[in-house]
Amino acid sequence: MRYSKTFIPTVKEVPADAEITSHQLMIRAGLMRKIASGTYAYLPAGWRVLRKIMEIVREEMDRAGALEAPVPMVQPMELWQQTGRDIDYGETLGRFKDRHGRWNVLTPTAEETYTYLASRELQSYKQLPVNFYQINLKYRDEFRPRFGVLRSREFIMKDAYSFDADEAMLDESYRKMYDAYCRVFKRCGLEYVIVEAESGEMGGSGSHQFTVPCANGEDVIVYTEDNAHAWNLEKAPVDPPPKAPAVEVGPPEAVHTPGVGTIEAVCEFLKTTPPQMIKTLIYTCEDQVLAVIVRGDHEVNGEKLTQLLGGRHVELADAATIEKVTGAAVGFAGPVALTGPVTLLVDHAVAAMAVGVAGANKTDYHLRNVVPGRDFPLEGDHVRVVDVRMAAEGDTYRGQPLRFRRGIEVGQVFKLGTKYSTKLGAMFLDEDGRQKPCLMGCYGIGINRIMASAIELSHDEDGIIWPISIAPWEVMVTPAGSEAEVVATAERVYEDLSARGVEVLWDDRDLRGGVKFKDADLLGLPVRVTIGKKSLAEGHVEIKLRREADRRAVPLASAADEVARLVNDLKAELTAEA
Ligand code: ATP
Ligand code: MG
Repeated sequence: MRYSKTFIPTVKEVPADAEITSHQLMIRAGLMRKIASGTYAYLPAGWRVLRKIMEIVREEMDRAGALEAPVPMVQPMELWQQTGRDIDYGETLGRFKDRHGRWNVLTPTAEETYTYLASRELQSYKQLPVNFYQINLKYRDEFRPRFGVLRSREFIMKDAYSFDADEAMLDESYRKMYDAYCRVFKRCGLEYVIVEAESGEMGGSGSHQFTVPCANGEDVIVYTEDNAHAWNLEKAPVDPPPKAPAVEVGPPEAVHTPGVGTIEAVCEFLKTTPPQMIKTLIYTCEDQVLAVIVRGDHEVNGEKLTQLLGGRHVELADAATIEKVTGAAVGFAGPVALTGPVTLLVDHAVAAMAVGVAGANKTDYHLRNVVPGRDFPLEGDHVRVVDVRMAAEGDTYRGQPLRFRRGIEVGQVFKLGTKYSTKLGAMFLDEDGRQKPCLMGCYGIGINRIMASAIELSHDEDGIIWPISIAPWEVMVTPAGSEAEVVATAERVYEDLSARGVEVLWDDRDLRGGVKFKDADLLGLPVRVTIGKKSLAEGHVEIKLRREADRRAVPLASAADEVARLVNDLKAELTAEA
């Protein structure tokens, strides 16, 4: 491709509304443009990258036996009402009413549609297993679109849905997708961590996330020092700390703490520290009231809490409920003498404390000398000692220290079981003629996120450094001057390389060398061939890898062969094992 014939509008200035590197570079390198909050237009070079990613994903899905069968982007709301997800998805679900007054959904994901399809098309165990997939647009009315295409409202997703007859078959479908994902991310040149997306405590290996570790990620990955386990922060289990040795203290003593509500303020006032504090949060779950009790320096983990309640909806109690069960203004709740039927969920770390300071269930008062197990129960009908907090620096899991890292979720595989098939009637007849719901799995990959993650992982202050498999072109040919011989040689190199099947961008623009080099760095094609007057006089051209500082002079006669070899070597680094 001649540079002058394509459209790569590079930008010098860092765009003001682009917070992170990948977003800035995607604009600056002329790959995309913002249309509105969370929606982007792709320009030709950017689209080439996306096409390559989609092609890798498509090849690996096909190879794993999945069948491409796309469904509409606009889906009938009735399907979503049947699974209740019209409500669960809340305002994130894009919807509109058509001219006939029917409500439609702009698909954020497509479990409903594929299950509906399966309910019509799959009748017998003989048709199973089957796995349908598509690569197309999704819409999510994200509360806070940000970081460019990492969290946009419209994005391209590969989503696959498997239908199986039994657990063993589902395990096999799941494993195939898991392996295909490893190959996809390897081939796209991404470093990734596989995160257990279902807590180990729950005994589930029912979901894994593929996460690219990088400083700008929105997710926090927690992993054991021996790398045997990794989770999202929301899922990371922690060991209970060892029980602190008992201390002799008198009964709880109420202290007047007027207007002192926050943990920090109480610590300051009572000359204590957050780990010595017992924090009590009141939640409601259906008609049940819960007091969740964690150490002052710990945070309640909403995901763990939901899991402890069997997946039911749980939320922070309103002020009226808090006042009713504590008999005090909001901010003074404590575990001692709550009124009414309240279930205590006591975090392990609180149960391990010898003594602490807690809210007094009396406005403007705290209690000193609160001894867990003495002053409030650690066992009984309405008490559970559990792991309900966020893992933190210093915690361990099965004795292994926990480490923390930020990351970007690029894909997820999920065993759904019969959740959707029962609701939407995707049944099949088994060998004995019995009707059974299909077992399902769903598998998503964020195509645009792969693109942005690759840039987050691989760039320098001058621009992008593409992995060759997803680079818009493989080689940049840059004539450093405008002398006729230089230009003619550049064209010949371009043609020789193209004839060898190498994808070349030839910078045929009549511009100063410096400007072209800046654009070349920004665009980040993996191999650069520079043709200059001086080296040409010696019969040489210069070859440089974008990721390395070294330049090499190569005889003009062997330049095309040498570059083609380099391109193949770079590609070989990114092939997945057979
Ligand atoms: P997140 O937790 O980041 O919101 P998710 O877990 O809701 O993502 P999935 O439903 O698992 O997303 O969707 C599959 C894949 O689609 C994700 O792994 C991610 O790569 C991509 N994806 C999801 N939401 C967005 C978005 N708003 N913008 C770009 N890609 C997205
Ligand atoms: Mg996900």
